[in-house]
Amino acid sequence: MAWLAFRDRLSTGDRMRSWGIEQCCMFCGEKNETRDHLFFACPYSFTVWTNTAKRLLGGAITPDRTDTVASLMLPARTRHDHVLKMMVFQTVFYSVWKERNSRRHGGVWVTTEKITRTIDKQIRNRISSLRYVKNHPLEGLMRRWFEVS
Ligand SMILES: [Zn+2]
Repeated sequence: MAWLAFRDRLSTGDRMRSWGIEQCCMFCGEKNETRDHLFFACPYSFTVWTNTAKRLLGGAITPDRTDTVASLMLPARTRHDHVLKMMVFQTVFYSVWKERNSRRHGGVWVTTEKITRTIDKQIRNRISSLRYVKNHPLEGLMRRWFEVS
């Protein structure tokens, strides 16, 4: 799903408009729901990005897709940070898309605080599911996540 979002292949408002369907942003009401707005520039998504990755990415998170993706793609300081950046990238994209679709289909509206807690839990669960053998290169990933989350 994150790959489809990255390639701008999801059925966001701007793509649906070409099929004759109007779709505004389900978070803020912006008339033109584009991928860049939905996942980066929207105040809702930007707050989720900031809450989730501010300490990991520092000041590199901006409402501009190009800047945020560039900072995600830069080599990380350590292998742990690289893995965490990819986990954050996938989990934030998935969670924002899932919340957008839930709202679109009449589901409960989740706050940025709650979605941030859910993302944190999903990343912790993902790290916990990785059963490392002793001296594995990613041993200590959870400790690093606690440091940056
Ligand atoms: Zn919006």
